[in-house]
Amino acid sequence: MVDYGKRWESLIKGIDAPMFVAVNYEGSDKVSLRYLTGFTGEGSLLLTAERGAVLLTDSRYVEQAQRETAEAGVEVRELVTWLNSGLVEEIASSGACCAAFASARVTHRWVEQLEAKLEARLVSLPDPLSAQRAVKLPDEVALLRRAAEITDQALEQLLSEIRVGMTEIEVALRLEILIREAGAESVAFESNVSCGPNTALNHYNPALHPQSLKRGDLLLFDIGACYQGYRSDMTRTFCVGEADKRAREIYDLVLQANLAGIAAVREGADGIQVDKAARDVIVAAGHGEHFGHGLGHGIGMEVHEAPRLSQKSKDTLRAGMVVTVEPGVYLSGYGGVRIEDDVVVTRDGCEIITGFAKEELLVVG
Ligand code: ZN
Ligand code: ZN
Repeated sequence: MVDYGKRWESLIKGIDAPMFVAVNYEGSDKVSLRYLTGFTGEGSLLLTAERGAVLLTDSRYVEQAQRETAEAGVEVRELVTWLNSGLVEEIASSGACCAAFASARVTHRWVEQLEAKLEARLVSLPDPLSAQRAVKLPDEVALLRRAAEITDQALEQLLSEIRVGMTEIEVALRLEILIREAGAESVAFESNVSCGPNTALNHYNPALHPQSLKRGDLLLFDIGACYQGYRSDMTRTFCVGEADKRAREIYDLVLQANLAGIAAVREGADGIQVDKAARDVIVAAGHGEHFGHGLGHGIGMEVHEAPRLSQKSKDTLRAGMVVTVEPGVYLSGYGGVRIEDDVVVTRDGCEIITGFAKEELLVVG
């Protein structure tokens, strides 16, 4: 059971305003509304210490909002006016001097429209929920664990079905069915299933230029499941048929980097240190320039959230944070290997929640 009251209290305590407002307009900020109330539709949320949460929505969502927010104890109001007009009236009638909002999650237009009509002052904060959401409570870790298990299970089932000649998108679609059948509400993000030279493209979309699997190809899966709002993000790389020497060498190198990164994760370690632990392994092997992205990112209700593990990170790890560790080596024209795990930070290390085997370059097809 989620303690929404605690989430509200922490948020209000951390902002310099008596009220917090958030809006989800056509998907603009699904995550804040869901995290604070359980509601997955469109609407505006006002949060104050005195009155708790008030959700303004329209006839399309009223019944859904009542059902989804019953546990949180949210007051749901049906608006007959346009969403922002209702919000202006609601803020005005509360008598609040000011209202804070997350500038990272609204449009400039929304701010302009509100400022033109509001007497209360708007307080712009980058994203006050970000730090709070970065540290997961045990009930959240349980959901992340389930999302990771579903991904493991779906991939395991899929591997025996893979054949030379299938297209990347055929493989991706089959995987997505297996993920949904295992109980996920959706995939966590657009699945990246790529083969051959496409494996060197970090965010490849198999639907756009589908290629067929050939013997000797590297085959990369960057995939995840969304379970009750919480997401997994795992990458595994395989070989279709026998792997050549170069593929095995790169795989072993990336595996060593993945293990070194995981070994560096613990409470108190900073994002730069953990990135460096993995990056040093790749640099020492002469492949530094073939690892262009950061080592990892926080994962939770969003695929990419705080904290960051990278050469520019300003974050320090705390127990309860859940991060990915995903080194890779990408050789343009040949292919790439990435191995990505999700880990829960603990006081003296971390716990890996992605369970799929990675000890060697597995042959499929
Ligand atoms: Zn990923
Ligand atoms: Zn990732």
